[in-house]
Amino acid sequence: MAGSFEIESRYAAPLAECAHCGHMLPQGLGEKECVICGAVCRVSHQPTIDNLTDETLPCPHCNTVVVAGTDERPTELTCSACTGKFTLTPKILKVEIDCPGCERQLRIRPKPGTRELKCPACESKFNVTF
Ligand SMILES: [Zn+2]
Ligand SMILES: [Zn+2]
Ligand SMILES: [Zn+2]
Repeated sequence: MAGSFEIESRYAAPLAECAHCGHMLPQGLGEKECVICGAVCRVSHQPTIDNLTDETLPCPHCNTVVVAGTDERPTELTCSACTGKFTLTPKILKVEIDCPGCERQLRIRPKPGTRELKCPACESKFNVTF
């Protein structure tokens, strides 16, 4: 029996902004609480929900194509052919930030609020706010 498999989903909702303060909301769909101002916003994106529900992927145990059938992520799926289980995890969105000290682009995972980044190339530190 194989261990647990985790597969990253191919689809993710676009990053949404708080309707009240314009800062980034936590990634995902449904009710999200803005960490900056505390407002609760409903994030809905029908094309993403359709893509997530219809997402197909090969079973990591036997390669049979499995349909996700839900827009929930993470979700545990069971292959109908081999009854193997695996977990479909949320896609991690990354954004590119230009370092103000050099031209290098940093790929980071956006999180709401302000955080300090350190450029690996020129070692300058700077703050980003989403
Ligand atoms: Zn807000
Ligand atoms: Zn299988
Ligand atoms: Zn730099």
